[in-house]
Amino acid sequence: MNSTMHCDGDAPKQDTRTNDSFDVIVIGAGLAGCTAARLFALQGLRVALVEHHADMASFKQLCTHFIQASATPTLRRLGLDKLIEDAGGVRNGVDIWTRYGWTGDIAPLDASGQPVFGYNIQRRTLDPILRQLAADTPGVTTLLGYSLRALARRVNASWGVELAGATRRVISAQLIVGADGRNSPLAELAGVKSASSDNCRFGAIRAYRNVSLRRGTCSQMWLRGPETAYVFPNDGGVTVIAYMTTKDKLDDFRGDPSEALERNMATFPDAPDLSDAERLGNALLVKDYPNVWRQPTVGNIALIGDALMSIDPLWGVGCGFAFQTAEWLVDTLVPDLKRHVPIAAALHRYARHVSRELNGHRFLILDFARRHGLNAVEKLTFCAAARDPAASRHLHAFGARLIGPSRFLSPRALLHATWVDLLRPAARTAQPDAPV
Ligand SMILES: Cc1cc2nc3c(=O)[nH]c(=O)nc-3n(C[C@H](O)[C@H](O)[C@H](O)COP(=O)(O)OP(=O)(O)OC[C@H]3O[C@@H](n4cnc5c(N)ncnc54)[C@H](O)[C@@H]3O)c2cc1C
Repeated sequence: MNSTMHCDGDAPKQDTRTNDSFDVIVIGAGLAGCTAARLFALQGLRVALVEHHADMASFKQLCTHFIQASATPTLRRLGLDKLIEDAGGVRNGVDIWTRYGWTGDIAPLDASGQPVFGYNIQRRTLDPILRQLAADTPGVTTLLGYSLRALARRVNASWGVELAGATRRVISAQLIVGADGRNSPLAELAGVKSASSDNCRFGAIRAYRNVSLRRGTCSQMWLRGPETAYVFPNDGGVTVIAYMTTKDKLDDFRGDPSEALERNMATFPDAPDLSDAERLGNALLVKDYPNVWRQPTVGNIALIGDALMSIDPLWGVGCGFAFQTAEWLVDTLVPDLKRHVPIAAALHRYARHVSRELNGHRFLILDFARRHGLNAVEKLTFCAAARDPAASRHLHAFGARLIGPSRFLSPRALLHATWVDLLRPAARTAQPDAPV
């Protein structure tokens, strides 16, 4: 059985269920929450999916929509990849410019040698599709328009969750999943402290139509000293342009962020031509976005997606990790939830898995968020990637989060990069005088 109950404040539908207990309660119907709800339910579990927006079509505004290839297996398992393609989502790859030149959009390969890709799809398109997919999954009860209000510990160590909407409800489950985003009210209520670290950059983002790209139709990224710029082609012919730099330049953006975004963008080599572009909506200015992360579990609560880790958007990893952490949680917890045995050991395994998979990525991203340019190892690897397709493919496999830092920075990979840097000629697109 699947059901959707709306609490939109005007005409709350009556809840006809008599049973308020589920196997799993998921707080938050964003990417992470919908993924977890659908995958748990596909395994035969009864799931309550709680979302404080009443509108099925609500979507996250603050995103540049680049889903890394690491998440594609999860999208396929959800049955979402086909829906994304039907909705016009674009298979992605990225060409990256540093002063060493363009790396080329050289796709990483899977085990059978096939190129792998993620997707670019606007959140206004993606979020409603995924939420509907989750809501239509037998076993999912979707509670739209309900917010988490309080937690109540039960005698058997499971949590009851008090929800506020037009009516007050209390539901319970053996596992409560926090998929409620960066500020995670669930983590707050459960007393999970967040760790944080500074991000020295701010960002400006705007969407356009009819952008002329000079490097083909792939996504493009520029890294020049403290500055980063991006072009992301999406569904519906919409191209998102983003620019990030250090906060000492913020004053230049306060008056007219759009003008400042376009002026700075135009200074990059092979910058897109915006002369015929239609400007869509307003430019968004993200003035301060510190890195935030939390321990993965407490009691019978597990955190996934941004509730678990929300770090520098510069590398575009949040959506991919939202899908992946949801899948890791499901795969680790399902056996014990189905057998109705205590889940403490499974939650511990989930926490260990998360640490193993994410800590290295987080360490490097946090380190870059403090710096104003590339370090020695980054110079080595970007320089090699601009001169050698194999080094480029290796760099892209890491950027797409298909390999972790230890493989990316293996002695063999670093030796290859050193050999390339010493022996291969500079790329024609290099600008040796540009900041690095
Ligand atoms: C400027 C910017 C650009 C970005 N660009 C990219 C990019 O290009 N690629 C990428 O991979 N990532 C990007 N990200 C990160 C990405 O947007 C997030 O990592 C991703 O959306 C996280 O998904 P989530 O489901 O964990 O959380 P969210 O999308 O935040 O979903 C949380 C859900 O929980 C609901 N909720 C919250 N509180 C409650 C409550 N009390 N009760 C009930 N429901 C609740 C919310 O309404 C929401 O629906 C970007 C982020 C920023 C800031």
